[in-house]
Amino acid sequence: MKGELTGGCQCGAVRYTISGARVAYCCHCTECQKQSASAFGISVPVFENQFNVDGPLECWTRSTDSGSMTDCYFCKRCGSRVYHAGRSRPGFLTVKGGSLDDPDELPLVAHIWTASRRRDVLLDPDLPHWETQPRDNAEWINLFQKDTTL
Ligand SMILES: [Zn+2]
Ligand SMILES: [Zn+2]
Repeated sequence: MKGELTGGCQCGAVRYTISGARVAYCCHCTECQKQSASAFGISVPVFENQFNVDGPLECWTRSTDSGSMTDCYFCKRCGSRVYHAGRSRPGFLTVKGGSLDDPDELPLVAHIWTASRRRDVLLDPDLPHWETQPRDNAEWINLFQKDTTL
């Protein structure tokens, strides 16, 4: 497990710290492609009480495949997406991994939603891939609690 990590939006108005984050994963779903305007999103799963954020945040809420809602927080000034809070998993957040000051501080442990990945993006065959996503909370937790060292 890493110590405290820092990150923020593109303009620097929103800054955050994370304590206790262990891993990051790539999500190739079409929502993450739209949200990042890129090939995939990088998510850092954390518990709410491990995350401290400060700055001018705005929230946009969207529905999810599973029929729930996700609150998506972004910098009011520059528009960078900073973190998501899914209402089906209270107390649990995913911070957008590309906003870390040093994105290499956390290892990637999985690729999810590879069924919709951009075909010319090559994936590490040694990492677990999900065509969609882990089925239930237990499977998610198992993935995120994985003990990793860089
Ligand atoms: Zn900003
Ligand atoms: Zn996604």
